[in-house]
Amino acid sequence: MNLSNLNPQQQAAVKYIDGPLLVLAGAGSGKTRVITQKIAYLIQTCGIKPGHITAVTFTNKAAREMKGRVGEILGKKDSKGLIVSTFHNLGLRILRKHHAKLGYKDGFSIFDATDSLSLIKGLYAHDSSSNVDDAESARWKISAWKNDFIAPQQAIATADNDNDMRFAMLYERYQRQLKAYNAFDFDDLILQPVVLFEQHQDALQYWQNRMHYLLVDEYQDTNASQYQLVKLLLGVNARLTAVGDDDQSVYSWRGARPENLALLQEDYGNLKLIKLEQNYRSAGRILKCANQLIKNNPHTFEKQLWSDLGYGDPIRIIECGSADGEAERVSVEISTHKFQKRSKFSDYVILYRGNFQSRVFEKYLRELQIPYVVSGGVSFFERTEVKDVMAYLRLLSNQDDDTAFLRIINTPRREIGASTLEKLGEYATHRGISLFAACYEFGLQERLNERAINKLQGFADWINRLADQANGTDGVAVARSMVLELGYEDWLKDQSSDLAIAERRMENVNEVLDWLTRLAKNGKGESLSELVAHMTLMDILERNNEEQQTDAVYLMTFHAAKGLEFPYVYMVGVEEEILPHRTSVMEDSLEEERRLTYVGITRAQKELTMTHAAKRRRYGEDVDCEPSRFLSELPEDDIVWEGGGRKLDEETNKIRGRAHLDSLKDMLA
Ligand code: ATP
Ligand code: MG
Repeated sequence: MNLSNLNPQQQAAVKYIDGPLLVLAGAGSGKTRVITQKIAYLIQTCGIKPGHITAVTFTNKAAREMKGRVGEILGKKDSKGLIVSTFHNLGLRILRKHHAKLGYKDGFSIFDATDSLSLIKGLYAHDSSSNVDDAESARWKISAWKNDFIAPQQAIATADNDNDMRFAMLYERYQRQLKAYNAFDFDDLILQPVVLFEQHQDALQYWQNRMHYLLVDEYQDTNASQYQLVKLLLGVNARLTAVGDDDQSVYSWRGARPENLALLQEDYGNLKLIKLEQNYRSAGRILKCANQLIKNNPHTFEKQLWSDLGYGDPIRIIECGSADGEAERVSVEISTHKFQKRSKFSDYVILYRGNFQSRVFEKYLRELQIPYVVSGGVSFFERTEVKDVMAYLRLLSNQDDDTAFLRIINTPRREIGASTLEKLGEYATHRGISLFAACYEFGLQERLNERAINKLQGFADWINRLADQANGTDGVAVARSMVLELGYEDWLKDQSSDLAIAERRMENVNEVLDWLTRLAKNGKGESLSELVAHMTLMDILERNNEEQQTDAVYLMTFHAAKGLEFPYVYMVGVEEEILPHRTSVMEDSLEEERRLTYVGITRAQKELTMTHAAKRRRYGEDVDCEPSRFLSELPEDDIVWEGGGRKLDEETNKIRGRAHLDSLKDMLA
């Protein structure tokens, strides 16, 4: 196999297969390329079957890109069976195969954060001593325990204050409740496979036999549970290639442990370490900025990084008057810049700290008719209508999913009142069965009148009939007729202030169904429940990019940008309180914010612009904002400051306008 498109260190990393390998290197040094090439090498040169290779990446988007690239090298046919997925998807795969061993039934549901929260609130309702307001803190705490691979009993045993004890007890009930619902939450997708492997040697054997080689990208962001999962899957042979960069660890709030890089060295005495030092992504100046900034963090591993791509243009830091001024400035610049450089919209990315920052940019981009894609943010799945259909689909595949049941039992209205549901709930809890099952119980007659029972059973009969059909034949077709039969479109029309809104919402519903059809066609699952589980793990951007790549400006958070690269990068809102984020300053996690800034800077290939606003509206008031402290850590000689708020904005716009005209003349000449 031809490895000439790799440097000697990269080649060494690809060819080394005698033991566990860690590739540790800074941004843009070709770590991900090593993984991609190594997959091809393992198949083509080492003769390992694609089905025996698993690569784990951080996002679905990254997974898809990697699969695409491997496909290009090998041809689609030759990579058949290869698993490239996120940790969560891998966990889902494992649970799908072996959930029965954990006492779960077929058709289990997956709970997202909102579902988990409402489950916790439900538990609170039965417990008068607890305060409903801290349900969200409880959810975070439980999630943190799961990420740290701490079981409920352990949490209870080690709690050293009242609050932790309360949450630990709640954790235990939460976990029992999830199981009663036949549901896993997001964190379970990693945690439960580990539990499975610890308890069931045969299941572990199955997966170890299947995985002859494991590759993990963005290794610095694995949490304790993920580390355990990797370790178990590897077994004694430890055929692993992990690549990572401790300076890009930005998920400590989700339990990521950059120490896991060092832990590998302890756990595997024969670990080979390879460092890469050439950056192939960014102009010299951009790289210099990144290097200088990150020097301010302490380091376990020393790294160097150089680039011979030319020094490039100065980094621009622009002060804008307000949030609107900032969004307008960036949008106008992108429009003229694109025109001058004859570039594509997709060459540009706008990066920000929090999803809430995207809205004002969307406004101006839309005004200038610049196509854009917002990654993450208010996910498709957070829309009411999408949550509704998903709940119907979930109930269709898992009747014990009480959260789904409660969401839709009265959507559209079926005249089943709150008190009926309360009594049903009490009865179900008393009997230790799901709400759905309780609808058919004889004992219910003592608590509810006949009319109420008829309504409940009417609904349950309908779901049962559809579920039977879905089992028998084409699940997706049944899902479609379910949406028709339940009269959801009319319900939307009733609920929306005008028809156009109702239609748009119905389009989202149809989009869910179309997507389901596509997934089925692409073999992403055999039963409806498998398809539904798969969908829960994806988000809107990925959905859009599934088939065709659109030419649009990308908007995303620094977190979401990890691993990606763009010719022209705009980092916006580079201010105190935003980057570094206010809570990080309070919690003393500045180092992580600096790493986040490092991730942002190193996304840029050719040009980097950072903006900040002099004033921003907070709680209805204009407050003064200060430029981020990180800006003062950049090399002064490589930066031009453009400032002065709105007034200068107009001036530069004029200059830009002239440049725009010039290039127009150019083009016509
Ligand atoms: P990050 O830390 O941001 O994830 P990375 O180390 O994974 O970055 P890659 O994304 O693999 O880096 O590579 C960065 C860019 O450099 C890509 O465009 C890639 O195609 C290119 N590249 C990698 N290795 C080489 C090489 N040996 N020769 C030329 N280009 C390369
Ligand atoms: Mg990478």
